[in-house]
Amino acid sequence: MLPAEDLLSLVVAAFAFAPGLAIGSFLNVVVARVPLHRSIVSPGSACMNCGHELAWYDNVPLVSWLVLRGRCRSCSASIAARYPAVELGTALLVAGCFLKFGITGAAFVAAFFCITLVAVSGRTSSITSFRTASSCRRPCSCSLPTPRCT
Ligand SMILES: [Zn+2]
Repeated sequence: MLPAEDLLSLVVAAFAFAPGLAIGSFLNVVVARVPLHRSIVSPGSACMNCGHELAWYDNVPLVSWLVLRGRCRSCSASIAARYPAVELGTALLVAGCFLKFGITGAAFVAAFFCITLVAVSGRTSSITSFRTASSCRRPCSCSLPTPRCT
């Protein structure tokens, strides 16, 4: 049997998991849209392949990707596993912060830093994958690792 304090931390972590999923979903939007100078508020989420605007039930973090088996409901295009991975990773990190620190200011600060790290890593991987896919023939001037150009 867990001591009452550990049990409380476990319950708090479980409750922090759902907002963590939502924050991870929002980070996916930020990482996808900010480099394209698009609004993170509107329009709503849509399939990157066919443009079909997602209904609320196709936009539930982690669950929708699993239910749709990683495919767009409209055109069946593959949806990258990166999206649910970011959502799950963010949720686990946020829940872990509250599991470790309980409901304290330290938990919120730790969760904030974890969320920031996920956002920065997503942004970096987004830039790197874009650069990898591009056909540039010269090194870029930014400080990111230069992918092999063809
Ligand atoms: Zn589609």
